[in-house]
Amino acid sequence: MKTWDVIIVGGGIIGLSLAIALRKRGATVLVVERGEPGREASHAAGGMLVDCSLETPSALQPLATASARMYPEFAHELEVESGMKVDLRDYGTILFPSPEHAADADRCGGIQLTAKSFLDSEPALAPVNEPSWCLKERSVDPRALTAAASQTAKHRGVDFSSGDPVTQIDIADGRVVGVTTTKTSFIAGKVVNCAGAWAGQIGPFSVPTRPVKGQMLCLVMPSRTLLRHVIRSPQAYLIPRSDGRLLVGATVEEAGFDKKTDTATIQRLHRAAIEMVPKLSDARILEDWAGLRPGTPDGLPILGPTPTPGYFVATGHFRDGILLAPVTAKVMADVIEGRVPEHDLRAFSPSRF
Ligand SMILES: Cc1cc2nc3c(=O)[nH]c(=O)nc-3n(C[C@H](O)[C@H](O)[C@H](O)COP(=O)(O)OP(=O)(O)OC[C@H]3O[C@@H](n4cnc5c(N)ncnc54)[C@H](O)[C@@H]3O)c2cc1C
Repeated sequence: MKTWDVIIVGGGIIGLSLAIALRKRGATVLVVERGEPGREASHAAGGMLVDCSLETPSALQPLATASARMYPEFAHELEVESGMKVDLRDYGTILFPSPEHAADADRCGGIQLTAKSFLDSEPALAPVNEPSWCLKERSVDPRALTAAASQTAKHRGVDFSSGDPVTQIDIADGRVVGVTTTKTSFIAGKVVNCAGAWAGQIGPFSVPTRPVKGQMLCLVMPSRTLLRHVIRSPQAYLIPRSDGRLLVGATVEEAGFDKKTDTATIQRLHRAAIEMVPKLSDARILEDWAGLRPGTPDGLPILGPTPTPGYFVATGHFRDGILLAPVTAKVMADVIEGRVPEHDLRAFSPSRF
C-alpha cells in the first residue's frame, strides 16, 4: 500500500504552497481535498498583498513583511513551473485610511498624496477631501495563483485526492498514522490540517476556526487602464487586473457557512465603486460571489505542531492568506522537518486557545 511522508488536508493556497515547499525538500506529499483544489477562500480572495495594514495585529507584522518580500520570487517560480501567469502587479495602493487610523497612516512608509499627485496618479478617481497615501504594495490574481500552484505541485510530483473529504485523523499508539476519508484511508506519519474555515471540523485536536463571509463583485473596466493602483477606502476596495477586470470588495460578515451573495450588498459595493470612480457607471458587471475566510478568536493564524505527535495545523489566515502563503509554507516546512523556523511562531501556536 502506498504511503506518504506528509498528508495535507485541504488544497487551498496554504495547503498547495506547503505541499510544494515540502516536495522541494524531498518529502513525498499527498493533498487530500474535499472538492477541487483552490475553489474556496483562495478562489474568492481579492489578492491584495497588504503588508502594512493599519489593522494587522502587531504579532503578525514580521510574517506579513517577510511574505510580501518573498512574493516576486514565489510568483515567478510558480509561473515558470506551471507555464501560467499569476498577474503579480506592482503599481502600488492608494489608501484612504479610516478616521480612527488616519493618524497612524505614516507608519506604513507611504507617501502622502497632494491634490496634484493624487490626480496624476489616478485621474479616474473622483476628487475627495480626505487625505490619501500611496503605498508600495503588490497585488496578485488569487485564482490564477492557486491554479498555478496546483499545476506546479502536480509537476513536482505531489499526489492529489480530490472530491473526498477527510472525516478523521487516524491515530495509533498516540501518534498520527494517516487520515480516513468518506471513501478510503491514506497512510502518513505526518498530517497537516490546512482546511481553512473548515479546519475546526476535523479532530483530534480542536482548532477554533470560524467562517467569516466576504462578498465581492467583479466589473469590466471601460478601458483596461482606467485604474492602475489598488484603491483601499473604508467604503470598499478596488483591485484592477491586467486583463481589465476590476474587483470590488468586500464585506466582513459573521454568517456561518453561508456563501450566498445578496443583491442589496452587491449593489452597495457597486455604488461605492462608482462614487470613487465615476467612469465605472459604464462598467459591465461580470460576476459576484462570496467566500469564507478562516477566522480565529484572536485574529492570528494557527501555525505549528499540536500535542498529538505528527499532527500539525496551518490555518486561520483570515484576511491575509494569499499574502501569507509563501512565509507559511516556509516556516511550516521547517517545523514539519523538525528545524527551528526563522520566525518565532509562539504567538501562533495551536495550543494557545
Ligand atoms: C472575499 C475575500 C477576499 C479576500 N481578499 C484577500 C486579499 O485581498 N488578500 C489576502 O491575502 N487574502 C484575502 N482573503 C483571505 C484569503 O482568501 C484566505 O486567508 C486564504 O485563501 C486561506 O487559504 P486556505 O488555503 O487556508 O483556505 P481555503 O482556500 O478555503 O482552502 C481550504 C481547503 O480545505 C478544503 N477542505 C475543507 N474541509 C476539508 C476536509 N474535511 N477534507 C478535505 N479538504 C477539506 C476546502 O475544500 C478548501 O479547498 C480574502 C478572502 C475572502 C473570502
